[in-house]
Amino acid sequence: MTKRIFRSIFYVSLLLIVSFSLVLLAFLSEYTENAQQKSMYLEITYLQQGLEMQGISYLEQLPKSQQRLTWIGADGTVLFDSVADVNQMENHLQREEVQEALQSGTGESTRISKTLAEKTDNVAVRLQDGSVMRISQTTWSAGSILLSMMQPFAVLFALALVLAGVLAGKTSKNITKPLENVDLEYPEQAEVYDELSPFLRRIAVQKKMIAKQVREQQQRQKEFYAITTNMQEGLLVLDTKGDVLSCNQAALQILGVTEETKKEKVYVWNRSEPFRDCIQQALDGKHSETMLEQKGKVYKMLANPVLEDMLVAGVVVLLFDHTEKADGERLRREFTANVSHELKTPLTSISGFAEIIKNGMVQPQDIPHFANNIYTEAQKLISMIQDIIQLSKLDETADTMQMQSVDLAEIVETVCNRIQEPANKQNISLDLHIEQAWIQGVPSILEEMVYNLCDNAIRYNKKGGSVTIIIQQTETEVKLFVKDTGIGIPLEEQDRIFERFYRVNRSRSKDIDGTGLGLSIVKHGVKLHHATILVESETEKGTQFCITFPKKKENDAISNLCN
Ligand code: ADP
Repeated sequence: MTKRIFRSIFYVSLLLIVSFSLVLLAFLSEYTENAQQKSMYLEITYLQQGLEMQGISYLEQLPKSQQRLTWIGADGTVLFDSVADVNQMENHLQREEVQEALQSGTGESTRISKTLAEKTDNVAVRLQDGSVMRISQTTWSAGSILLSMMQPFAVLFALALVLAGVLAGKTSKNITKPLENVDLEYPEQAEVYDELSPFLRRIAVQKKMIAKQVREQQQRQKEFYAITTNMQEGLLVLDTKGDVLSCNQAALQILGVTEETKKEKVYVWNRSEPFRDCIQQALDGKHSETMLEQKGKVYKMLANPVLEDMLVAGVVVLLFDHTEKADGERLRREFTANVSHELKTPLTSISGFAEIIKNGMVQPQDIPHFANNIYTEAQKLISMIQDIIQLSKLDETADTMQMQSVDLAEIVETVCNRIQEPANKQNISLDLHIEQAWIQGVPSILEEMVYNLCDNAIRYNKKGGSVTIIIQQTETEVKLFVKDTGIGIPLEEQDRIFERFYRVNRSRSKDIDGTGLGLSIVKHGVKLHHATILVESETEKGTQFCITFPKKKENDAISNLCN
């Protein structure tokens, strides 16, 4: 901008200087010419008077001057000339100024030399005797004056150039300086030309608007980042070419993306066909779903097209951890198969015994024995069905069960009352080291859990053995130990005892009745109460189960007691 202003001012000032000089020159030359002509007329008037009074002697005694004097007779013959020999001179009758003077009394003419270097002005007057007196003055022509003044002109022009340059530079700087000093951070505070004030005010308003929009944008970005970062689910946003526009940490972890592969296309992140197809379908504008297996886990993948003006502008992919659900489905399938199998065994026995009795193949004195067998198998069936119902309840309604403050010691006492008789039968002693311990729980489930552990401790015990139940508590935890001196569980089996229908070494425990569901119920209960369970066991020495519950806060316990 400064350059443009500089150029404009420079050219204008140069044009002004040059035109002013030319006009001045023209005016000066006009003025000098007029002054010269006036002096020539004045002089010729004096000459005319002298000549008419004294004759040719007047002319002859005049000193030599720059002006040429010529006296021409009425017929054009040259009678006197201050410069040339009259005899050598041609007739002057046809000269322009002579003709004019003869006709009107005065005449004048200007003649330019052949070289254009000189100009001769002639002024002529008619005398009383009809002759003509003429004065001629030769001066430089305007061209030659200009030519001769070329050098000073060049110097003047150069000076004018410099002057115009300096002036233009200063003026343009003065004009642009206030603009350069405008602080765009605070445009409304700038002191510039009044004409610019509305413009600067508008900049200030727009600046505020932009700052607000940027803040909002940053806030939205922060929120989006916070949400996606804390999401357990993997999130990917892809463009139409399958390039990743955005993704959260969970997605990178699920797909096992490293820093190197991060820059690659999404298809490189997972080369499996279901992954590709799922994305491709979304790019074709359709919602698609698939299952992905990654590092032993199962993920549900959902891909949705992002539409803009009915065209696919990208794809949003979500990855959910589906392992638990998939495992659950698998377990349910296995459970159904196991239930059918486990129910079939006692039912077959019952049906067999009943058939023998029906066919009259049993002696009357043996009937009570067979009836007892049928009763025992039916009891097995009942207890298995009860366990299955209990497990189903835990599966289906765990989320909706109402937790309340429960004193674990009370639960243990209730259970001990239930198992006292079977313990007595086996000559097993019950040792209790318990104290009041409040936890959050579902009383019926807790009782079932403690009962299953104590029942196992008696059933898998040896005659004359013992079962010890301990409650220990810290600031944050309540621990329940159920210890026995029984047959123990081999180390390699300890991981599996919580599986549904799993029974250790069936041949070894075939004499001990059981459904293989007791510890599964315990495990579910543990999960429901946000607790953990540990087993320590040594074959032929005994087993210890320890459940660690998170402790209910003191305040809650007190308020509970007051209630
Ligand atoms: P069950 O109805 O067969 O007792 P559980 O689920 O309660 O089913 O137990 C699973 C298996 O774990 C049992 O069959 C048994 O072999 C073993 N087990 C459980 N508790 C004990 C224990 N206290 N001592 C030895 N073995 C045990």
